[in-house]
Amino acid sequence: MKKCDLCHKTDKIHYRVKSIIHKDWIFCCKECWNVISKHNDYCYGGTRKSK
Ligand SMILES: [Zn+2]
Repeated sequence: MKKCDLCHKTDKIHYRVKSIIHKDWIFCCKECWNVISKHNDYCYGGTRKSK
């Protein structure tokens, strides 16, 4: 299990995203993704799964 780059909760699935306030790619959990997906310049770069 990996950590979310924003809230640091561990999870199996993270989303690779960028937005106006995260200019480099970050990995975030679904909860944080719900927030980031509403930001300007939101960009989705794939899903990371860990066991
Ligand atoms: Zn998170």
